[in-house]
Amino acid sequence: MEVNCEGCAGCCLDWRALAPDDADHGHERRGRYRPLDDVDNLAPVSSDEVRAFLDDGLAGALVARLFRIDDGPSVTVGGVDVAAVRGRPAFLVGLRKVPKPVAPFDAEPRWLPSCAFLDPETLQCRIHDGDVYPETCATYPGDNLALDAETECERVERVHGGERLPDDEPPADADPVLGPGAVGARVFTHPDTERVEGAVERLAANEATRADHAEFVAVAAASSPGTLAVSDDRYERARERALAAESWVDAAVTEWTDRADEEAPDPATAAAVEADRGAPETPGWDG
Ligand code: SF4
Ligand code: SF4
Repeated sequence: MEVNCEGCAGCCLDWRALAPDDADHGHERRGRYRPLDDVDNLAPVSSDEVRAFLDDGLAGALVARLFRIDDGPSVTVGGVDVAAVRGRPAFLVGLRKVPKPVAPFDAEPRWLPSCAFLDPETLQCRIHDGDVYPETCATYPGDNLALDAETECERVERVHGGERLPDDEPPADADPVLGPGAVGARVFTHPDTERVEGAVERLAANEATRADHAEFVAVAAASSPGTLAVSDDRYERARERALAAESWVDAAVTEWTDRADEEAPDPATAAAVEADRGAPETPGWDG
């Protein structure tokens, strides 16, 4: 496997606005499981990784995703039918996207939903190879290649040209986590539907609050692989930490959201919005 990522960031962005005619984009909204939220290209994280983000005070970068399901086990929560495992709402935790001024694929700068950790100027990841760099990003698109599913790299090639995936041989150690082993490790279930009625309603309306996400993030942090069990103590501690956390991500999310409503997109503003608040620098592409 070999990828050519310079000037791309396709897997870190929701770039549907740059591919209005691509029938295959928005692929996360096809099939049996359809996300309640309307953001493309979620990077899901594991229970261990959720705990690492909490340790680093980066809870503001985490969001929960629930699903509607056609023809499968579901439960009604807050008036919304959501996919369920043994009667409990099932969910993923992934990395938050926020509008940032980006210019991928040689396009003109524009506001696109971008991963909280993407530097919009260099189009590189601010946590690449760091302590909290998620496995899903480190191994992408290996699992897609192993499963013979189209990769984001190929989608970028198809829509914008260029060569993004010079070698599409799946890595020997690709190990897509599917089946029951994923429960409690990457796919979580919430133990108390009454507690999340309001949160699910707001998630479905794209109005979820930081506290709504923190509720699910805490359950994910208190989950263990292969079981639906959730530790009450770990949940309480994780929820407190998630609600108390404050980092450069939180302030940047607020400022990007405000700027997107008021300003023309300029990737160079990343220095003031992110780097000056302590966001890790990226190395650039030279060399
Ligand atoms: S963590 Fe980095 S590589 Fe992963 S989606 Fe975000 S910006 Fe992209
Ligand atoms: S879509 Fe592929 S080529 Fe583009 S940044 Fe992601 S891994 Fe790299």
